[in-house]
Amino acid sequence: MSNIEGFCLKCKTYGLIKNGKEIKMANGRTRFAGLCSQAGCTGKISKIIS
Ligand SMILES: [Zn+2]
Repeated sequence: MSNIEGFCLKCKTYGLIKNGKEIKMANGRTRFAGLCSQAGCTGKISKIIS
């Protein structure tokens, strides 16, 4: 479980990323992608963490 937060474009809320996982990108940086934690929202959140 992480406590990384990101902005959900679907519900326009800044909140915790649920079921997130780190994804290494081709340029060597790391992205953390998961689902919006707001009740009823199915939006995806992605955030560059390093
Ligand atoms: Zn959302």
